[in-house]
Amino acid sequence: MFDSSIRTLVVVGAQWGDEGKGKLVDVLAEGCDWVVRYQGGANAGHTVQIGEESTVLHQVPSGILHPGVHCAIGNGVVLDVESLFAEIDALTQSGVVVDGRLHVSDRANLVLPYHKLVDKESAASRAIGTTGRGIGPAYEDKVARRGVRVLDVRHPARLRSLVEAGTMHANRILEGFGSAKRADADYTLSALAEIAPRLLAMSKDVGLTVHTAQKSGATILLEGAQGSLLDVDHGTYPFVTSSSTTAGGAAIGVGIGPRSIDAALGVVKAYTTRVGAGPLPTEFDEAMSEHVRKLGNEFGATTGRPRRCGWFDAVVVRYAVRVNGLTALAVTKLDVLDTLDRIALCTGYEIAGEVMEHFPGDIAVLDGITPRYEWFDGWRTPTGGARRVDDLPVNARRYLDRVEELCECPIRYVSVGTRRDQIIGTG
Ligand code: GDP
Repeated sequence: MFDSSIRTLVVVGAQWGDEGKGKLVDVLAEGCDWVVRYQGGANAGHTVQIGEESTVLHQVPSGILHPGVHCAIGNGVVLDVESLFAEIDALTQSGVVVDGRLHVSDRANLVLPYHKLVDKESAASRAIGTTGRGIGPAYEDKVARRGVRVLDVRHPARLRSLVEAGTMHANRILEGFGSAKRADADYTLSALAEIAPRLLAMSKDVGLTVHTAQKSGATILLEGAQGSLLDVDHGTYPFVTSSSTTAGGAAIGVGIGPRSIDAALGVVKAYTTRVGAGPLPTEFDEAMSEHVRKLGNEFGATTGRPRRCGWFDAVVVRYAVRVNGLTALAVTKLDVLDTLDRIALCTGYEIAGEVMEHFPGDIAVLDGITPRYEWFDGWRTPTGGARRVDDLPVNARRYLDRVEELCECPIRYVSVGTRRDQIIGTG
């Protein structure tokens, strides 16, 4: 993807998350100087497969697995320090050098124990299908100007008053829920005191660091978490995450100007999945869902939750192409469809005799629609060994050509297996 005109690239999920961004970022990171996360928290779970080993990364950018690549966590992320350190320790134990290569924005808001408590006790969080890791409450505090940032950890008196105010607010919420649980400011403060030296040693002005790297001509990959349809503004609200997952969020969440991002790659599965509640217009019936879930191992990397599955929805991806300004697509998990006799693509939604081609802002509209499908003969040939487009069965190529056409965006990569080498570059 990188060349003389593309130096800063953002990679986003163009469906409901779990598209295989981890693998794409891992492959692209090889030619990169920096990989930077810009939103989300420890609720993201990128699975990357190296040889026979599979590693799940929640907060550390997957570029860390490539020696020489620098990684950063931007201000748009809400940082769970305890879980970050556990991840770093696990990586270090498996031989990955993290020290000096991972930087954390001093403007990032922290996920604190009281955020997790509120999230766990919240029936609303459960109804929306959140991971219960305190991400939503931490973002709420951020927007309400009640958050605690990494840089506050440098100032013990300020930190105490922020944590006390945050704890009081959390306790009022817990009381409102009818929960008997209460948060304790001293508990949070002593946990923070313990982690402070290690955290502060990694913290810096990430926006400035990335800007400086850009000026020196470095190649920079901005790594999104979740997917476009989970974006707090552009997703299937209220069944969304608490941050801006789309490409625009990258500029804000790293602290660089939008014009300094040269290209946007959208990762999509060759079908569709989503976790938790909310609309999924092309959802399979239960038997087919179970079949594809098994074929694609569609269980959450963070939670183990079974994912809901459906046909590829070109309405959704066309929408993602638009709101992200995607310059290319990467289609993953094509191999999962290898054994199917027939494969469908959703080209539009039918409602009251009309065809809707654009994804609606009001998800209630989706209740009344019927997806319009185009059917393709399956290829019934393993694709895992393909390394060039020409190696793919003709029916698979036909399917991909139509995806490209309907989504109005060129396909730049096709992934045909979990391993790093199982990828086809089409450019
Ligand atoms: P992410 O959050 O977008 O990185 O997605 P996840 O890591 O949650 O899910 C992607 C899963 O799909 C991981 O288990 C990957 O190993 C796997 N995966 C990625 N690309 C492919 C592919 O082309 N084929 C198959 N079969 N699995 C893939």
